[in-house]
Amino acid sequence: MKTTVSIIKADIGSYTGHQKVHEELKKKAGELLKDEKSKGTLLDYYVASVGDDLDLILTHDKGIDSKDIHGAAWNVFMECTEIAKGLKLYGAGQDILSDAFSGNVKGMGPGCAEMEFEERRSEPIVAFLMDKTEPGAFNLPIFRMFGDPFNTAGLIIDPNMHKGFRFEVYDIKNHKKVMLKTPEELYDLLALIGAKSRYVIKRVYPGPENKVPENEAAAVISTDKLHEIAGEYVGKDDPVALVRGQSGLPAVGEIVEPFAFPHLVSGWMRGSHNGPLMPCSQKNAIPTRFDGPPRVVALGFQLNEGTLVGPMDVFADVAYDRARTKALEVADYMRRHGPFEPHRLGPEDMEYTTLPKVMEKLKDRFESI
Ligand SMILES: [Mg+2]
Repeated sequence: MKTTVSIIKADIGSYTGHQKVHEELKKKAGELLKDEKSKGTLLDYYVASVGDDLDLILTHDKGIDSKDIHGAAWNVFMECTEIAKGLKLYGAGQDILSDAFSGNVKGMGPGCAEMEFEERRSEPIVAFLMDKTEPGAFNLPIFRMFGDPFNTAGLIIDPNMHKGFRFEVYDIKNHKKVMLKTPEELYDLLALIGAKSRYVIKRVYPGPENKVPENEAAAVISTDKLHEIAGEYVGKDDPVALVRGQSGLPAVGEIVEPFAFPHLVSGWMRGSHNGPLMPCSQKNAIPTRFDGPPRVVALGFQLNEGTLVGPMDVFADVAYDRARTKALEVADYMRRHGPFEPHRLGPEDMEYTTLPKVMEKLKDRFESI
């Protein structure tokens, strides 16, 4: 039996401001998904939240892009939007860009990461949920997991992984994609994904001689860009990702290790600032300082015929305390820059914010020099 794991997420309202999903929304989501499970639509589910994002982790046997699954998630978001509106939560329904469901949540506001595979004898999977950042925030850690032998010892010592992995990279401005193979094309890959606001890793596949089939994704990242969908900036595109581990793939410890370095990502405060990505537990996934700093939560599961055994709240471990301390030091340093780059994003990325409206009034006052 093939199992599909889907994370479908949306910001449909939060309190106070952008800080937290209200418990009433999570409760309602759980009730609705329980019904879907009893009807047989879902094999299992887990409702999570990070900051203002409601994340539905779903397992089923209906494959990716299933109308039933996307419809069930859409229904959750619509019902929860009504609760959010009733509570006058901030940004109630903000990621719901259409009133009519057309069979798939793509292009309608929510973000989505899905993978279908034959369950192995043991199937560990890690769901990464981020808030106050963008899909390119996954470029560095995903590269380290699958391409960097200084992170992933398996690339050197596991014969399954020794021939490397294949990276599917999206050019999100031109809507094109390219497949690159490591280690052969390592430098080409880095030339692209270092520019994380334009080129984003969408999926990673096993290379040759891996016992995991070449056509089964080992990692998938949501890449939905809300401002591209709506034609203007209507909300941040906080990303999620799924990564499978062990037995030909990176060990779970190799999958989570990159987050011990709180790298700089964009999306903090009004989607307009760079800041450190702080790994944290579910309990601490409430970004309050300057609406940040950006957060990442890792939930580990073992799949058992589609049942989610877990989660393990990975970054609750004290082993990430130092990453958090470093993130807070970097947050202090970046905040001191106030409205200056590199805390504030560069002009190209600010085009999608409300800044152009401010600049509009100055445009006739410029003279030639
Ligand atoms: Mg968010």
